[in-house]
Amino acid sequence: MRLHEYQAKDVFADAGVPTPPSALATTVDEAVEHAEEIGYPVAVKAQVHVGGRGKAGGIKLVENAEEAREAADAILGMDLKGYHVDKVLVEGAVDFKNELYVGITMDRGEGKPVAMVSTQGGVNIEEVAAENPEAIAREHIDPAFGMHPYQARKAVYDAGVPKAVARDVASVLTTLYDLWENNDASDAEINPLMITEDDEVIAADAVLNVDDDALFRHPDLAEMEDEAAEDALEAKANEYGFDYVRLDGNVGIIGNGAGLVMTTLDLVDYYGGKPANFLDIGGGAKAERVVNALDMVFSDDNVDAVVFNIFGGITRGDEVAKGINEALGQFDEIPKPVVVRLAGTNAEEGREILNDELVTVEETLEGAVQRTVEYAEDEQ
Ligand code: GDP
Ligand code: MN
Repeated sequence: MRLHEYQAKDVFADAGVPTPPSALATTVDEAVEHAEEIGYPVAVKAQVHVGGRGKAGGIKLVENAEEAREAADAILGMDLKGYHVDKVLVEGAVDFKNELYVGITMDRGEGKPVAMVSTQGGVNIEEVAAENPEAIAREHIDPAFGMHPYQARKAVYDAGVPKAVARDVASVLTTLYDLWENNDASDAEINPLMITEDDEVIAADAVLNVDDDALFRHPDLAEMEDEAAEDALEAKANEYGFDYVRLDGNVGIIGNGAGLVMTTLDLVDYYGGKPANFLDIGGGAKAERVVNALDMVFSDDNVDAVVFNIFGGITRGDEVAKGINEALGQFDEIPKPVVVRLAGTNAEEGREILNDELVTVEETLEGAVQRTVEYAEDEQ
């Protein structure tokens, strides 16, 4: 479970991490009121379960009431990477000279938590991680002992954090580790951890992801789960009884069986495409489920092409094919190209039944995925 920034900030502040004054708003008027109270400049920040809000236009710095009104009006109700924004955090802006990154996550390879510190925090940390990984200092932690103060100091020193703030950053890092552990978090992250002109250290953003399987131990956190902010598509998937995960690419993927869908995802990636979703329609892929599955992927504006990967077992290939025809027959115009790979029981019959005016039929999975990735590129 991912907490919103404002929720994570509350948890961080309670644990002793310095955070700017802030207040949550769901209307423009409310946002302006908060801004007036906090005093300008303030940052108006979309509260959605997705990173990279700054780059996507979900964060605006404003200097007066008029600007605050404009910003809140623009951000509230906007669609941010597929998420509807219904709340903004109004927060005292920090006058900073440097943005750090600090985070705790589980290093599965090592089987240990790892603390990370970088002086190159801010909106480009993903690029830093990919292109310049040595700019992020790492320190593994033995969970039996927790983070020793010297480990925090070492990570901070290795990262090259300026001396004047080293002690405070180390203290934030140990606090972050403790709250990571106490909350059964999978990730706890502050990016940016800002250094002000006066060498104060302050968390301008907060990420806290909590292990779903441990939520029963944290009723306070479980209560924060925000049904309204749940992705509209994920809600739809729940209704239909599908296993669905929304991703940020443009190749829609539908399959029956989790393994089959995972394989398709990997292949899309292998052939240079980007999966838009994981969608497992389960064993009994009857016509109605196919209709619902198509409704799901076509409801995602990011999808440029769709690949079906179906293995006929309990549900025979001919039945799936009928479902696909029926589903696509409901559209006056098929919104995006659809490619189908059918294998297993009655696959051949199925392929014959498929209406090739509506779909592209491919014999092999590799062929189907390559074709879909091409279509998706053409549509862009
Ligand atoms: P994210 O893009 O979703 O991770 O959102 P962040 O909260 O990290 O904000 C992105 C960027 O906006 C930060 O790296 C800062 O450069 C800028 N920003 C956010 N809050 C403030 C603030 O209070 N003051 C200033 N000056 N910049 C801010
Ligand atoms: Mn951030």
